[in-house]
Amino acid sequence: FFRGLESQGLYLNRAQIQAVRHTQGPLLTLAGAGSGKTSVLVSRTGYLIACRRADPSSILLVTFSSKAAAEMKERIMALPGLRAGEAAKVTARTFHSFFLYLLRTRGYRQEILGNARHQQFIIKRILREMGLQDRYEAETLLSLWSAYRMNMTGMNELPGSTPAEVEQREIFARYEEWKVAHDQMDFDDILVLSHRLLTTEPALLASLQRRYRYVMVDEFQDTGLLPYELLKLIVAPHRNLMVVGDDDQTIYGFNGARNEFILEFDQTYPDAKIITLDINYRSLSSIVGLGNEIIRVNQRRRPKLLRSTRKSGSVPLYLRPGDPDQEAELLLNHITEEVRERGRSYRDYAVLYRTASNSRAIFEQLVMRDIPFIHYENGELFYEQWVVKPVMDHLRLSLDRRNFHAMEGMLHTLYVNRDKGMAFIREKDAPRPKKGPLAHLLSYPGLKDFQVEQIRERSKLIKGLQAMEPVSAIQEIRRRFYDKFLEADERQELTLHKELIQEGLDELEASAKRFKEVSEFVGFVDRLIDIHREMAAMKRDEEADAIRLMTIHKSKGLEFPSVCLIGASEGILPHSSSLLAEHLDDHHPLSDKEDKALDALEEERRLAYVAITRARDELIISSPAYYRGRKTDVSRFFRDVFLTEEQREQARGKASEAADPRRTRGIGLETARRPAASGRPGSSRTAGGASSAGESRERKPITVTVPVTGSPERREPKPPVEMETVNV
Ligand code: ATP
Ligand code: MG
Repeated sequence: FFRGLESQGLYLNRAQIQAVRHTQGPLLTLAGAGSGKTSVLVSRTGYLIACRRADPSSILLVTFSSKAAAEMKERIMALPGLRAGEAAKVTARTFHSFFLYLLRTRGYRQEILGNARHQQFIIKRILREMGLQDRYEAETLLSLWSAYRMNMTGMNELPGSTPAEVEQREIFARYEEWKVAHDQMDFDDILVLSHRLLTTEPALLASLQRRYRYVMVDEFQDTGLLPYELLKLIVAPHRNLMVVGDDDQTIYGFNGARNEFILEFDQTYPDAKIITLDINYRSLSSIVGLGNEIIRVNQRRRPKLLRSTRKSGSVPLYLRPGDPDQEAELLLNHITEEVRERGRSYRDYAVLYRTASNSRAIFEQLVMRDIPFIHYENGELFYEQWVVKPVMDHLRLSLDRRNFHAMEGMLHTLYVNRDKGMAFIREKDAPRPKKGPLAHLLSYPGLKDFQVEQIRERSKLIKGLQAMEPVSAIQEIRRRFYDKFLEADERQELTLHKELIQEGLDELEASAKRFKEVSEFVGFVDRLIDIHREMAAMKRDEEADAIRLMTIHKSKGLEFPSVCLIGASEGILPHSSSLLAEHLDDHHPLSDKEDKALDALEEERRLAYVAITRARDELIISSPAYYRGRKTDVSRFFRDVFLTEEQREQARGKASEAADPRRTRGIGLETARRPAASGRPGSSRTAGGASSAGESRERKPITVTVPVTGSPERREPKPPVEMETVNV
């Protein structure tokens, strides 16, 4: 069997082989990124079947993300030494899909409430009913409730001593009632209900215990108490539980994942065998070194240092573009050049970002430049979000005043009921078509004076928009309508989200700036929407030669020849929400209040670590200097390792000079620092060229190629620290 693996190029090291051959009793492998944890799980599956004649259907592998589960299954299918059909009998799934299947076979028919926006919507309604809409944010409440549930804190055990605690308990209770009344369950319910089922139906539990003799868990660091308890139940008789994970890659803390479980596994199972892997096979030594450097700052971790097998041929590249649009441009210049000139493929590249909204600029440029890509997103396109769409609909109406769809999309901004209003307009228009059917509304029954005035004014506004540049048109809509609306509107949901609206509209202006004509801009947006819909409907071709776009969370466990981490700026990564942690969750069940800020920040750092360690050969990290006209610093995680003291000074100097953000696009450091000595000559490249011909002078991003860094305390000179490479 091991020969077979070797013939596929996988020469397991001694520790890995030891883990693979351990077939009875609990086993923990706690090891750094890229050290072969997943490879060991897959190999062990093959070993059990091929060498120990284990029944393939007695093997259960679970992990958290569906992409990782699919990859695991694929790797199992490719194992050597298995008889036909054996690999297919192995169960490799996500926790949720495994337990959902179990529930379905037991007659649970509830619909899945799987959409976060929908969940938030329900919470918002509850908040309104209780008159608490200004006090809480739906998203925060949901993750708090989820954390409680993953840690098996029942409704009756929730804290209830302060008024806020009592309120929250009531909100959670109503949310639960809503789900029951509507025959729905959320993702957490899958595990909660499964636990109830397994603890109340011994026969069912026994049958699972009989069937699954070997249970393996990947990414164990993301396990909350509840999934862990579920596993413990299943393996209780034989205790054949193998878990692998990396405490430095816990990135679901907000959902109740606690890396203590992995650190305390041997307390639950005192006889657990512990095998550590400390050789990274995935990445060049410069990337491994950078990862070590970034993560060692965290206090709450088991210290470990990864060694590397792949001596560096190149070093990570650092970019400081002016803004996200320029960032996208630079990266795509670089990637297309690599593909054209150096025989690379689009599929080698993954672009990773902290939150879905960070992908707007790159998504658009990919579309405009016709570069193939796969967007692993199920969210809504920026231009279709509730803040932005009505404004777009105003623009659409200015181009075609008979565009009924657009009219429908903006009717609520005239305080007219959408369905009734549209029905009225259509009915009026059918016998007597008007050039601007919106005007029919003037005879809508029951209009208040201010509405009549609004409708008149708005029709005039819309007529005038077409002649303006898109940015001015948007500003005009804001000035004539939104600004007043935001000030005056009493409806809580809107005042609550004032900032969100401002932010969305600022972003829309930033995007529109690139176009001269309203028609051009609207055409572009409509094309994006089409493509987005097509992509959502299409089954993804995982083999396609296309750039991958995904959040860092989705990238966990995966690897790519080249990784571009975008948005490595303060407020983005670390995300601003983590910087506000002490204000946000007052009642977090997992830790003391003082610890929260640190917790949140350490989790953001782990995200940075996860992103970096996805890269095999090439890593590009980019920190735009401006977001929507606001200056942002280089992410604290990278500041110290990338910039010299002098460069940091310079960056600060430049920023304060730049009073008008519109004129400061592309301001950044102008010197490109070469690594003192690293890799082969020619290894220090600049992505996309610092500035290609024909570009404005202003737009001069910096590119710095970074040798593996010294420690953050050490200032220049920073000699490149190659990680020790080992021969195996
Ligand atoms: P992560 O922490 O990111 O989940 P991991 O520990 O699960 O990483 P794997 O994905 O299993 O690591 O392995 C990383 C890469 O190293 C893979 O490309 C794998 O094929 C390769 N690899 C693992 N073990 C060996 C080995 N002994 N020899 C050569 N390559 C190996
Ligand atoms: Mg893995």
